[in-house]
Amino acid sequence: MKSLAVIIPCFNEEEVIRESYRRTKAVLETLPNPAELIYVNDGSTDRTRSILDELAAKDPKLHLIHFSRNFGHQPAVTAGIHHCHTDLAIIMDADLQDPPELIPDILALQEKEAANVVYCVRRSREGDSFFKRSTAKMFYRTMNSMSEVKFPLDTGDFRLIDRRIMDEFKRLKERGKYIRGLISWIGFKQVPFYYRHEARAGGKTKYPLRKMIAFASRALVYFSNKPLRLAMGLGFTAMIVGLALAIWFTLGKIYGFSRADSGWTSIVTMITFFGGVQLFTIGVLGHYIGVLFDETKARPEYIIDEERNFPEPDASSKKDEDK
Ligand code: UDP
Ligand code: MG
Repeated sequence: MKSLAVIIPCFNEEEVIRESYRRTKAVLETLPNPAELIYVNDGSTDRTRSILDELAAKDPKLHLIHFSRNFGHQPAVTAGIHHCHTDLAIIMDADLQDPPELIPDILALQEKEAANVVYCVRRSREGDSFFKRSTAKMFYRTMNSMSEVKFPLDTGDFRLIDRRIMDEFKRLKERGKYIRGLISWIGFKQVPFYYRHEARAGGKTKYPLRKMIAFASRALVYFSNKPLRLAMGLGFTAMIVGLALAIWFTLGKIYGFSRADSGWTSIVTMITFFGGVQLFTIGVLGHYIGVLFDETKARPEYIIDEERNFPEPDASSKKDEDK
């Protein structure tokens, strides 16, 4: 029987964390598989930490990682995968938008299809605002047209991955991880599982617009060079337009069909326009350089303050004993 871990990143989830634990644990107890939980507390500033400590004290199968500060959702999931030693892992949010009651069906599908990945596709998004739904829809479609790797549409990080995927994932050296993209990129057999995305069980989203934009831009930069090529295309088009205008005005002067010399407006418009094109393309370039700079610094993706209920001293030699 394959062993399973459920990886749950959480940031300021005091309103839902107990309920999330209770429901997930209840499902895990019905499974024949040896199962554990890995909670990654991403530097919460509310009572999440103390609640998790309290739960971990009672449940030795609740493995707990506390970060030294808030590093973000993707680093939190990454830490969970790095610390996972089971045959299978399911990545899930803490807010119960991904219902834990689906776990048995996801496991059954994995077994039936002998899949390495079961990615969960949102058939509907309860409780997400119209703005979030439509921007997300647009984002996944744009990403697919820009990226060299094809991603499944309307799919978050909620998915099951097996040991093979986890081992390959551990070899990835990039710091800025766009996890759902990387798992698609790894390949092997990946199958969809359709589900209804529920409303948050409590609390507010931890992905405000600012973080959503940063997340989308990371996905784009790490999986596509197209913005650079588009910048080149834009520059080229502007050049052609400039050249055509120059020819037009010169001929106009010679043959007298252009009244260019009265054109304060045209000069100002052109200077602003081409200035804009230049700054924009430099901006695109700068963004890629910034990412390059971050990657060369090679700082760790996250820093752990404390680990609980992981076997001492070396977690990597761990084997699941309770079969
Ligand atoms: N999360 C995290 N660190 C962050 C932001 C979010 O660990 O900096 C966690 C959060 O607690 C939740 C999951 O990532 O379990 C997804 O966040 P959320 O549900 O707020 O995002 P949404 O579903 O609204 O996109
Ligand atoms: Mg959520």
